[in-house]
Amino acid sequence: MAEATGTNQTKSMDEIMALCKRRGFVFQASEIYGGINGFWDYGPLGAQLKKNLREAWWQDMIMLPCWGKKGPGGERVRCVPVETTIIQNPKVWEASGHVGGFNDPMVDDKETKQRFRADQLFGMFVALHPGTHADEKAQVVRRILQDIEDGLLPVRTFVASGDADVADAVENGKKLLKPYRVSDLAQWPLDAATVLVANGLDDSKNGEHLLCVFRPVPPAMLSDRSPAVPSPFSGKSGSLMPPRQFNLMFKTYIGATATEDDIAYLRPETAQGIFVQFKNVVDTTRVKVPFGVGNTGKSFRNEVTPRNFTYRSREFEQMELEFFCHPDESADWYRFWRDFRMEWWQSIGLAGDNLQLREHAKDELSHYSTGTSDVEYRFPFTAPGFGELEGIAHRGDYDLRQHQEHSGVKLEYFDTDRGELLPNGSKRGERYLPHCIEPAAGLDRGVLAILCESYTKDPSRPSPEIMRFHPRLAPIKAAVFPLVNKDGMPEVAEKLHTELQGKFGRAGFIETDAKQSIGKRYARMDEGGCPFCFTIDGDTLKDQTVTVRDRDTGAQERIGIGSVSKYLEERLGI
Ligand code: ATP
Repeated sequence: MAEATGTNQTKSMDEIMALCKRRGFVFQASEIYGGINGFWDYGPLGAQLKKNLREAWWQDMIMLPCWGKKGPGGERVRCVPVETTIIQNPKVWEASGHVGGFNDPMVDDKETKQRFRADQLFGMFVALHPGTHADEKAQVVRRILQDIEDGLLPVRTFVASGDADVADAVENGKKLLKPYRVSDLAQWPLDAATVLVANGLDDSKNGEHLLCVFRPVPPAMLSDRSPAVPSPFSGKSGSLMPPRQFNLMFKTYIGATATEDDIAYLRPETAQGIFVQFKNVVDTTRVKVPFGVGNTGKSFRNEVTPRNFTYRSREFEQMELEFFCHPDESADWYRFWRDFRMEWWQSIGLAGDNLQLREHAKDELSHYSTGTSDVEYRFPFTAPGFGELEGIAHRGDYDLRQHQEHSGVKLEYFDTDRGELLPNGSKRGERYLPHCIEPAAGLDRGVLAILCESYTKDPSRPSPEIMRFHPRLAPIKAAVFPLVNKDGMPEVAEKLHTELQGKFGRAGFIETDAKQSIGKRYARMDEGGCPFCFTIDGDTLKDQTVTVRDRDTGAQERIGIGSVSKYLEERLGI
């Protein structure tokens, strides 16, 4: 039986990565030189898969936004594209706050030469406390948290970027506490972080309570006493340096002199290019608020710990929309886009339990945002937790206001459809800075989620590994096979192949192959995720029919050779 697609907990990232390499989806960048950390290349199938995902976004967000659905006020959703440069005037990044604030404090371990984000260091803190009654638990836990505030050092540390890492550490911690009969595991909220508590009773020690708390190492402890904190890599103390600010933007120099005055940055997001062209778009097109501007392309972040395959890379692609609307309507548009973005990811194959929409709690929001939600996917490496695929943020007028202040150029919009009615029948108009809703998606993370979701194992089939891509995204759209390489079959196959390539070739590969047994050829297509195989056999020559084989079920049916194009057109969704 095929693996349940509802969960990713049983899928192996190693197997998925091995298939990605074997079938040419993803390669390590500069592999023959030993690779380069945080950079990935796409092979032939991966490049086409990524293009199909980018085009699905472009089509459904810009050319026919939201599949023609009406906005919250019953209006048509209007969007236009821009394509802005990777290198902008450095003042853009000062205005956006990236030069000053796009920092992750990080810690170097001078012994192991490893580096990690300070906010990802968790500690296992252990202390003995008097008190035996269950009712006192909250009070006892508060006491150990106070101990930590007062400087209690962790006995172990570990780097954790998600719930799954913390859960692993708790499991390991339990083994260390075995002699103390670990009896309870509770969750304790502290500064929006998750704190896991295991408490146990050591019978031999006059009923004292042994408490073990897993929580982030407090920033003050790392700053003031970093050499005393044990290293997450060696377990020994003495090697951790105090955290340092580290700007995630890649620096470069413009021109040949390479002085401080020539510094520029590779963009860390595509969104700012939209804000700085807002006025030009309004002045040169007929768009009226509300409207959206989309931008896709490469972004660069000098991530401290690139990992989990392409999930956290240093060079990646984003697909961002800034939707500008009147402040009074912005809360409705925020909900509209949040819900549509969830629906969109579902429509291209991420249906089921592995996808969730998570509304940020108030204390997680940026100071300018009144609402942010993440579309999250349960990747095999985050399971049972989730990782961000896209963020949908209500950004208020923060960005336009910042750029207006820093550039000195008025970015207000004059809305001729608002204001009181004048005697001549027209409206007085209203001048305002539009509010902005930002659905910001990662294309590479999207591809990774699609790869993980599509990967299916079914040992009962000749092709035990199947990539169940949605036909719209599949990099190979169809294959045409002559059953045997003789008796006039190759010629018929060649003709059909040419016809399909002409019609569908812009959306993906149309394969043909006459070698090996038909079973092996099907298996190869299953691994590449080709949804439909058409086989020309002896009957084709007599009655002009071909076999269609469905990738997901393996079921076969016969259809007329003349209706193959229509059959594909109906199913590919392009
Ligand atoms: P994270 O918290 O994972 O670092 P973020 O909240 O900083 O992500 P945004 O600035 O909101 O991310 O960027 C929008 C999208 O860009 C993210 O949802 C993600 O899909 C993608 N993205 C961000 N950083 C990376 C990266 N280093 N590698 C790949 N994709 C990324």
